[in-house]
Amino acid sequence: SVVATTELLPEVEAFLSQSPFPSFVAGKNFPAASGQTVKTIDPGSGETIAEIHDLSAEEIDQAVQAASDAFPAWSGMSKEERASILLKLADAVEKHKPIIAQIEALDAGKIEAQAQGDVQNLVDTLRYFVDLASNVETREKIDSPGFEAWKYRQPWGACAFIFPWNFPFLLIGWGISPALAAGNTVIIKPAEDTSLSAIYLARLAKEVGVPDGVINVVTGRGAAAGAALSANDQIKRMSFTGSPEVGRLVGEACGRNLVPVKLELGGKGAAVVFDDVDVAETAEKLVGAITFHTGQVCCDATRWLVHRDIYDEFTKECVKRMEAVQVGHPLDPNSQMGPVVNANQRSRVLGYLEKGQSEGAKCLCGGGEASVDGLQGNYVQPALLSGTLDNVAAREEIFGPVAYIATFESEEEAIAMANDTDYGLANSVWTKDEERANRVAEAMVAGNSWINAHNVFAQGVPYGGVNKSGVGGGVLSPETLMDYYRSTSVVRPLS
Ligand code: NAD
Repeated sequence: SVVATTELLPEVEAFLSQSPFPSFVAGKNFPAASGQTVKTIDPGSGETIAEIHDLSAEEIDQAVQAASDAFPAWSGMSKEERASILLKLADAVEKHKPIIAQIEALDAGKIEAQAQGDVQNLVDTLRYFVDLASNVETREKIDSPGFEAWKYRQPWGACAFIFPWNFPFLLIGWGISPALAAGNTVIIKPAEDTSLSAIYLARLAKEVGVPDGVINVVTGRGAAAGAALSANDQIKRMSFTGSPEVGRLVGEACGRNLVPVKLELGGKGAAVVFDDVDVAETAEKLVGAITFHTGQVCCDATRWLVHRDIYDEFTKECVKRMEAVQVGHPLDPNSQMGPVVNANQRSRVLGYLEKGQSEGAKCLCGGGEASVDGLQGNYVQPALLSGTLDNVAAREEIFGPVAYIATFESEEEAIAMANDTDYGLANSVWTKDEERANRVAEAMVAGNSWINAHNVFAQGVPYGGVNKSGVGGGVLSPETLMDYYRSTSVVRPLS
């Protein structure tokens, strides 16, 4: 339980005192003419910490216009000039890391140290793509007998991004870094629960000299502001990260306008644990993964498929660790796991625990609200369910600190169980046998397979889902940068 929450930094107090927060468009504060706002709540205390403006569809269209207007100058700059501006932004974010991390921790219910990691991740991702873009041949000669042929790579124009609430700042980095580095302008729509770090970023960008209109942030409710952005036919590309349900709507809207779209969606990952592992160490890592950001991680292993011979020992080790997790306010340095993002999400998690048990799963530990002294936050206990994989809690994405454990006997059975899902984002295999690890990693159908680890990332290593987990190529890799150039072939016959 919580002992005491850290004092807020004076810069964070000063920032929050500016509430209500308008959007940020064309280098200026951009209020909603209606005066409508959405409350931003600290999920750790239940208290309202700020309000953000709720833009109308026309206002969203104006923001897209601002990004389109800024495009010729930004794309017309030399690569070197653009790189130097973006690197200044990376430096400034790094310098402001403690402030942004504290805003993010309060806004998203994220353990402060983890929020610092997220902020650094944006810095690293931005630097990575700026460096990569500086080496891209934007005019490449193609060897074609009888022709002088070229491939030109040009940025698209105004690119739109819609983000979820679980990694508000980090995902902005994954999304906009390749787009900006290639010379596009961007419109960011953060989730209504977690818009503050995006607003902070846009203001910081202005301070360090990113030209007006290159980075725009539009705030408001998903069903209105988000829908208006995805339905705007002047955007040149759309990138959406969030649930499959909303991803479908965004995909439909872009399909109608023939706008290319990238969708990064949910998951129901498996961890396949063979009987030759160090049981205590594997339990430690998997409990660490499912409790990281309170299980609100798209690529989490939520189905733990464990060899029958080690089931008893493995579950004992997991239960011991889950029961010891220190649940508390994200700004308390003693907390290991914070709250879930809002009251709806807490009801969703508790609802799945109930439905799972009513369909026959056994709850081995946790499974209820967690109380944290004197705080009205959205706390839940980490939980471990056990049963067969036809259970609703084993099939649907819960998005909370809930793992579902089932047993297997053979490698073939484990692979079939791992692949028995509509999702395909990320899985892991745990064994000392390298050959077997490689075989299973390859046979599991998903965008990402980890060996003896889960949730590990690096700039340059592609990340993204297949099947219902994603469409359009993923993020973080050199291919992602290429998605943000359109190509034009220029051909002159030689005879
Ligand atoms: P969500 O789909 O409810 O919301 C995502 C964003 O879409 C928000 O900004 C929201 O305002 C907006 N939105 C809502 N309705 C909309 C509409 N009709 N039109 C356009 N935009 C709309 O998702 P969430 O609850 O914020 O996030 C959780 C989901 O995100 C989980 O499914 C998780 O797996 C997924 N996720 C995936 C990845 C990945 O990289 N694959 C990363 C993080 C989260």
